[in-house]
Amino acid sequence: MTHLLQNLVEMTGHRDHLRLEASVMATLHKLTSVVEVRALEVFQREGEACLRPRSWMENGQWVSTEAEAQADARRQPLTHFPALQACFEARTEHARSAPQKGRYVVWLPVWVHDQVTSCLEVSQSRPISAHRLDVLMGIFNVYKNYQSLLDYSERDALTGLFNRKTFDEQFARHASCGDERARAPQSAPGAPAALPEGGGNREPLRQWLAVIDIDHFKQVNDRFGHLYGDEVLILMANLLRSSFRSHDRIFRFGGEEFVVLLRATTLETAHKVFNRFRQTVQDHHFPQVGQITVSVGFTASASGSPVEILGQADQALYFSKENGRNQVRFYDDLVASGHLQSRISHEDMELF
Ligand code: GH3
Ligand code: MG
Ligand code: MG
Repeated sequence: MTHLLQNLVEMTGHRDHLRLEASVMATLHKLTSVVEVRALEVFQREGEACLRPRSWMENGQWVSTEAEAQADARRQPLTHFPALQACFEARTEHARSAPQKGRYVVWLPVWVHDQVTSCLEVSQSRPISAHRLDVLMGIFNVYKNYQSLLDYSERDALTGLFNRKTFDEQFARHASCGDERARAPQSAPGAPAALPEGGGNREPLRQWLAVIDIDHFKQVNDRFGHLYGDEVLILMANLLRSSFRSHDRIFRFGGEEFVVLLRATTLETAHKVFNRFRQTVQDHHFPQVGQITVSVGFTASASGSPVEILGQADQALYFSKENGRNQVRFYDDLVASGHLQSRISHEDMELF
């Protein structure tokens, strides 16, 4: 019991989702006769509900994958898990199954607004008693409550996107290990491991940071009022969410400024993806307001300190604004063509 309480204290001491997940899984794994704990991601693929293991315990260590859910070879259709499928349909708190002798499984789905996007799976070697189920549910409920508190502090209230504070916390970690993680899978206790993107790419995979700013947004407020301005920000956040992949991170950085961290990909793809988003916004009809455009500046996200990287993307964004708006500019191209000087020196950074 004391052991369990210590684990709960450890679990709720974390300030980030991945470490919280690692911690709850380690806690569950330490229970007697538990042989396997996995966190499953639930997603739609070509209209079919699928599952794939997102993280699991291996030799006492927590391992996670950054492989894209849709392309993960370990994915399975939900129909392979009839008990879980029935649980999702009936919206119950847990599902149980005994797929083979000596293996008893319980699934604990995380319900958010009538939807499940993830689920913990605990397998034990002995039948799951009522008392054991109570203990599992108790740990799981602490985890869920704490997870929603974390969510609340990490997100912007208007759009639901990650806020600036979360960016500051996550970015140093993302930038420092991004390129390495793109090349080689790693695993470490409490730290996410990554699997490389498939297919022998010739161009190096890198992470990219873009600053996206709505053009002439002040005019939207001035002409239609703040409420319509807010509506545009919410719709813009929806367009961002549907335009980038689940691994890419999207932040609302300030009023009408957003930052996107693109997962390991080539420069060519980064250009395409940001331009496609720019075009999507241009083509979208915003109720009452009509057409809106965005300007984008981006840079490689491992090319310096967070201040330098943001500074580079900002310079590229500024160039877009000065040269007609509604365009995407890449910092290195602007430096190579002499339009920008690689300008951030030590003094600038102190000034910053
Ligand atoms: P530019 O094309 O150069 O970016 O021009 P802009 O008008 O978009 O830029 P500016 O930075 O001058 O204006 C940003 C405006 O965003 C000013 C501010 O009133 C508005 N804003 C900031 N936060 C919010 C918000 O939460 N809701 C609404 N409705 N407006 C906001
Ligand atoms: Mg603006
Ligand atoms: Mg702005």
